[in-house]
Amino acid sequence: MTGSTKYIFVTGGVTSSLGKGIISASLAKLLQARGFTVTIQKLDPYINVDPGTLNPYEHGECFVTEDGAETDLDLGHYERFLDVPTSKANNVTTGRIYQNVINKERRGEYLGKTVQVIPHITDEIKAHIQALGRKGIYDFVITEVGGTVGDIESLPYVEAIRQLRWQKGKDCLTIHLTLLPYLGTTGELKTKPTQHSVKELLSLGVQPDVLVCRTEHPMQKGMKEKIALFCNVDANAVIESRDAETIYDVPLMMQAEGLDQVVLQKLGVMTYPDVDLSAWQDFLRRYKHPTSEVRIGLVGKYVELKDAYKSIKEALEHAGAVNESRLHIKWVHSEKLTAKNVAKHLGGLSGILVAPGFGHRGIEGKIEAIKYARENGIPFLGICLGMQCAVIEYGRNVLGYTDANSTEMNADTTHPVIAMMEEQKAVEDKGGTMRLGAYACKVSEGSTAYAVYKKKDITERHRHRYEFNNAYLDDYKKAGMIATGTNPQTKLVEIVEVKDHPWFVGVQFHPEYRSTVARPHPLFVHFVKAAMQQGATPVKQETEAQQA
Ligand code: GLN
Repeated sequence: MTGSTKYIFVTGGVTSSLGKGIISASLAKLLQARGFTVTIQKLDPYINVDPGTLNPYEHGECFVTEDGAETDLDLGHYERFLDVPTSKANNVTTGRIYQNVINKERRGEYLGKTVQVIPHITDEIKAHIQALGRKGIYDFVITEVGGTVGDIESLPYVEAIRQLRWQKGKDCLTIHLTLLPYLGTTGELKTKPTQHSVKELLSLGVQPDVLVCRTEHPMQKGMKEKIALFCNVDANAVIESRDAETIYDVPLMMQAEGLDQVVLQKLGVMTYPDVDLSAWQDFLRRYKHPTSEVRIGLVGKYVELKDAYKSIKEALEHAGAVNESRLHIKWVHSEKLTAKNVAKHLGGLSGILVAPGFGHRGIEGKIEAIKYARENGIPFLGICLGMQCAVIEYGRNVLGYTDANSTEMNADTTHPVIAMMEEQKAVEDKGGTMRLGAYACKVSEGSTAYAVYKKKDITERHRHRYEFNNAYLDDYKKAGMIATGTNPQTKLVEIVEVKDHPWFVGVQFHPEYRSTVARPHPLFVHFVKAAMQQGATPVKQETEAQQA
């Protein structure tokens, strides 16, 4: 597109958790499918410098970018939808904004001025919003503001949007996402919370251009016009967003509602190509019309909160779609697994995935799950801590190192088969200090990993402090657990496999962060394929009467 970068802001009203991330990613997908270049960023109003130190119970998974930033899980949606990597610049928190401003103040950059929320904090926010646009590669920068309009903490962000709209005029557009609650007693959707939420935004000086209304039921006739009248928007800019069967339906639903067209017109883009979503539709067709079903166990300690394993779940779903198989994920709590009950919990599963994690809670259960998968020839994928537990399990039960452990769990073990990386030993801060982001890995020919990647040189994203202790490399090799992927510079072990097993792979890195709709990750694809060979059941074809 010729001309300047256009900025689209997405705010939320009425309540949190309305799915701003999915709406932002869906709009971005539609613009991308019309041939535009788009990126999405998330502004998070909390004071943590990044979400890396947040407990997953608080905020779900921490998503890691190629350049090693620990970010909000919405960036995972952006990448899965757009298949374009994000970076440090795509997520910022209030903590980071203040840290930058305070650092500048300490360096004397404000020349003795009183440092204030307006203009210094808002200038820092605006600089961050425009940093991606200044690269000159994006036609559109979509900026999602976390939280709900009216929260004390999001005020500086809304103020920064107000100022940018004033400065940039027609190059800016604001989409406000609200809720239409359904009152069962009267059988009606109510518009009043939306009206109030728009008033709140107006009181901060921002007039939304487009309203996206989340609703469980279809909007009644005349409702769009009513909302339009009360909120100073055009009726065709009131977009209905019904609950979807899958998040991957949302771009098509938004297309049907004309969201992208309204946005383009309001931004003065009058000519544009048709949407080409054929690959996306092909994915959805496979996803929704599987020919078989397969049962996979996901063993972790945060299974009550599925958002803690968001990227893993989505990567499994992508792999299921490629294989035209419906995945039934059994979420297994690692703290509940014991030698006695493991067969009861994991019996009948065709694949077992052991999840990443930190700290000792639940690791003995993970080790039991791995022993069960290894001894019963069930396809196994261990990710990060899951791989480390596979090494501990093999040490204890095959090599006879009865107290084998990671020094993270037991600093005094006589067999520290997993130990802290040298460069980590002097690190005291918790935030942003792990081995983070993409690193190279050399894959051995003839291995399962080679069959998966079909090449020797790969890179994958990391987030860990501990590693396979190379002092044990030969002992493991002799006993049948082989390092089939290592970092070419540091020789750190990246992949382990067990010989004489149908499919047993542990990876120190996080393949889930790289899986997208356009390119499902091959490790997940092959893991699911191996599980299907173990035991997939055909899906009964629906009769025509059932389809009707
Ligand atoms: N706790 C382990 C480490 O720090 C594993 C981390 C993870 O699973 N992401 O090395």
